[in-house]
Formats: sequence, C-alpha cells, structure tokens
Amino acid sequence: METLSNRGIDEILQKNIIIVGGGFFGMYLAEQFSILGHSVKLFEKENNYMSRASYNNQARVHNGYHYPRSILTALRSRISFPRFVNEFRDCVDSNFDKHYLISELLGKVSVRQFRMFCDRIGADCDYAPAKIQNMVNPKMIDACFTVKEFAFDAFKLRDIMLQRLDSSRAEYHCGFSVEKIEKVNQGIIAHVRDVSTDEIQEHYADHVFNCTYSHLNYLLDNSGIELISLKHEMTEMCLVDVPEECKNSGFTVMCGPFFSVMPFPSVGLHSFSHVRYTPHYEWCDRPGEKYQDSHEKFDKDTKTSAWLYMVKDAARYMPILNECRYERSLWEVKTLLPRSEIDDSRPILFRPNHGMQGFHCIMGGKIDNVYDAFDAIKKINII
Ligand SMILES: Cc1cc2nc3c(=O)[nH]c(=O)nc-3n(C[C@H](O)[C@H](O)[C@H](O)COP(=O)(O)OP(=O)(O)OC[C@H]3O[C@@H](n4cnc5c(N)ncnc54)[C@H](O)[C@@H]3O)c2cc1C
Repeated sequence: METLSNRGIDEILQKNIIIVGGGFFGMYLAEQFSILGHSVKLFEKENNYMSRASYNNQARVHNGYHYPRSILTALRSRISFPRFVNEFRDCVDSNFDKHYLISELLGKVSVRQFRMFCDRIGADCDYAPAKIQNMVNPKMIDACFTVKEFAFDAFKLRDIMLQRLDSSRAEYHCGFSVEKIEKVNQGIIAHVRDVSTDEIQEHYADHVFNCTYSHLNYLLDNSGIELISLKHEMTEMCLVDVPEECKNSGFTVMCGPFFSVMPFPSVGLHSFSHVRYTPHYEWCDRPGEKYQDSHEKFDKDTKTSAWLYMVKDAARYMPILNECRYERSLWEVKTLLPRSEIDDSRPILFRPNHGMQGFHCIMGGKIDNVYDAFDAIKKINII
C-alpha cells in the first residue's frame, strides 16, 4: 500500500527529463523513462514524429547477416532481432523471402566465409531455391542463400509509439526545436523554439537526452560544448515497383560495392540502395572544427537521383531488375561513428554527462540498437 512517506521518496527519486528528438529512439526512451516514474517532456522539431532517419531508411530488421566484418554487431543483432520482432510484431513484415547473394569477384566475403560466419552467429542460411538461382547472372554471382530477415513498417511503428506515449504520462510536442542548453544550479535549462512562431520557451530538467541522430552536434555547437566526431553521408534510397517475380522477395549482395532491394512495407514498394551510389557525398563533424548544420545542408541539397546508375549496375548481377519501375527517392543524412568506416560495425554512441552534468548524447546506427541504448543508460544509474 502507498503511504505518505514512500510517496515522498518517489517524488525525490522522480526526475524531470527532457528528450530532444522525436525519432524512434527519442519516443522509445520517453516512454521507458515515463514508465520508470519520471516526468518526461519530448520535443521534436519537425511537424511529425519519426519523419527523419526513422522513416527514411531501408526498413531492414537486422538479424546479423549484414555484418560479417563485425562479429560483435552481428551477435548484438541476433539478440535484438527476436526482441524487436516480438515487441513490435504488428509493424514487422515477415511475408517475404530474403536472399543474400555472394559475388566473390568484387566482394569482401567468399561463399565459404559467409557460410562459416552464419554458423558462427547461429543464423539460418540455406541455398536458395532454383527459381531464385535462375534470376541471377552466374558469371557475377557465386551463391544465393535464403535467410531469415524481416522489414518494418515505419508508419505503423510511429503509430504504435504514439499510442504508447499517449498511455504514458510523458508530454510530447512536435514543431519545437531545442536550440540551446545551459547549466543552472543542479539542473539544466533548455531553450525551446516554437518553430511556427520563433518564440523561445525555457524548460527546466534534471537530465536532457539528446536523441537527434544526424543533428546531434547542433545542440552541442549552440551550447558551447565540444563536438562529437561523427561522419555524415547524404543518402538516397530509391523506392521502386519490382517485377512480379520479385514481389515477395528481397535481395542483398554481400559486402562490397553492391546493391540491396527489399520490401519497404509502409508504402508497399521496394527500397533500392547501392553501396556506391546511395551515399552522394560525405562530411565529418570533429571537435575543434567549424560545425556544419546537417539539417540545413539537407534542406539546401539539390537531390539529383542516381537511380539510373544504381539499376544499371545491379542488373549486371540480376538482369530482371532492369524491369523495376522507379517511383521516387527517400533522402536522408545518414550518420555513422568514424570507426564504422573500418569494419562496418553499428555500435551505439552513448556519452553520459557530455560537456555538462545531466546532458547525455545517444545515437544508434540501427533501429533495434534502442535496446542497447536503454541498457547502457540503466547500467550507469544516472536516472
Ligand atoms: C539511408 C539509411 C538507411 C538505413 N537503413 C537502416 C535499416 O535498414 N535498418 C535499421 O535498423 N536502421 C537503418 N538505418 C539507421 C536508422 O535509421 C537509425 O539508426 C534510426 O532511425 C535512428 O533513430 P533516431 O530516433 O536516433 O533518429 P531520427 O529518426 O533521425 O530522429 C531524430 C529526431 O530528432 C529531431 N531533431 C533534430 N534536432 C532537433 C532539435 N534541435 N530539437 C528537436 N528535435 C530535433 C529530428 O527532426 C528527428 O526527428 C538507416 C539510416 C539511413 C539514413
């Protein structure tokens, strides 16, 4: 039974938390902190939640296969995959067959290595049926495997997160940009701009969680805090209507300058990316160097599609892809930790108390990394 004295303890333990960014990470953490009994306010600068990287991505629920060069990322994915699929069952599309193709000529992984790697991480991997083998150019592809990998519907995921936030006690607001933070006594004042009026409000918090992905350093730069080293790519993900034979399939050529085409459930098309042509150009944030605002760069970018290059190259491996009908492209700034360049790993970034007591920066290189992020926060007992 709740008594006056233990209610008092709850109040002392309850923290005021501001979450900056209403992508999947910010929404998930807002709900979890609220469940823990904290008073949570989330601010998202765009007019809708999950409208940036959490929507503009390939929608792959990673199950490890993608990371033969980083066993740790592969194994973490193997743990997060069933957890994500279970928790967000209604947003996961598992009604297609996913195939990983190996091209030894230009690829960084051989057929033997890929098989051994799948064994090592305990992931299912069988030779694909003849109808799939017949779709590939045998001069370019050495083996086709059928694996267990799914896709998520970002619109459904957003709606579920909104319902969950609605049922929690968290406050959440879109159209509000957190411009700057300042230390005051034991806490932090966040300067929050109403994007429609430019009016600035001040909100107090014990903790501020920066979950702004490609925009992570914006708040740091405005607040006089040292930048975190990040690499950014201006990316293009094409959305296409694939020929009938490919409708219930996804294909990824492994590890090299190759393509990936797989269902994109939220709009009923396939996403089409290419390691060489999806990133149009890149830049880095580095401590001590002048900050370049990634969202401003994105707004100014001319966005000229590389679709024809992507499909021309992909059709060398799978001639049937020439029959894809291009619909449109999703553009986004993709952000990576510098070390991912070497081994293609996707660790989380977690910088507690970065430059200011109570200010924490979080970034995950894939959607299901949210579990690792939350575990990391819980581990150091900051809330
Ligand atoms: C091209 C591409 C392909 C990808 N493919 C996959 C994939 O197949 N599978 C996978 O798991 N992951 C993939 N990812 C990675 C995945 O998209 C990200 O890990 C994930 O979306 C990050 O979620 P987030 O909430 O941190 O970021 P976001 O969804 O970008 O959310 C950050 C939010 O912060 C808001 N914001 C920024 N600044 C401020 C501010 N000052 N005040 C208030 N709000 C602010 C932004 O508007 C944005 O909504 C891909 C990413 C890209 C770009």
